Amino acid sequence: MEIIDRTAETAGTTRTRNDPPKQIYSRHDRQSLDQVRGAFLHQTYFFNPNPSRYDHTIAHFVILRRGDVLQVRPLTAGLNSVSNGRAVDIEFEGRYPSLRQIRHLRRTDAPVPHPTLPQLLAGRALLRHLRDTQGIAHVWGHRQASRMERDNCPGPQLWYNVGEWAVRNLGLTSTGLRESIPVAWRTERSLELVWPSPLDDPWDDARFDTMISRVNRW
Ligand SMILES: [Zn+2]
Repeated sequence: MEIIDRTAETAGTTRTRNDPPKQIYSRHDRQSLDQVRGAFLHQTYFFNPNPSRYDHTIAHFVILRRGDVLQVRPLTAGLNSVSNGRAVDIEFEGRYPSLRQIRHLRRTDAPVPHPTLPQLLAGRALLRHLRDTQGIAHVWGHRQASRMERDNCPGPQLWYNVGEWAVRNLGLTSTGLRESIPVAWRTERSLELVWPSPLDDPWDDARFDTMISRVNRW
């Protein structure tokens, strides 16, 4: 699969742009590849199509809404995150609603923000790639490791369409952590995003033909 390597650009970056800044690397700053057994899914909680914006993000990979997969740290980087020296952190660009917010928006006929199809397919392809090349056996949601802080990370849409898809189709498991994924994130059929048209999507400025070409590539 095509991965845009930004590890050279991020090599000298050790702090986030938060106020106050956070350390990007954990205390040990490296993780051993044979201890990397799974991947955590996250949402960034903001929209920005500019790849360099993610050079300061605590993650190994960032998947943009147009379907680009950025690798911002090598897999051997131990990050100051829930991965805690034994997993891969995958961020998805965007700010996506909780199930409660989705139901409220639907009731009021308001548009429901959602990930794009190229983004979802790129997420699936990346998990398959990590399973095949790194032998990962697990996929987890951020909330499973830190529910108090990030109850809606990665959110039901990303979980249903990428995390749960990988459980069903790649043989990964989401068990082994203290918190579990809410049952509705795993089973709510209405979360299935079949063909979110960019024409209906005010959060997406990707051109339709670009999206089609990426869908064909995965
Ligand atoms: Zn997260």
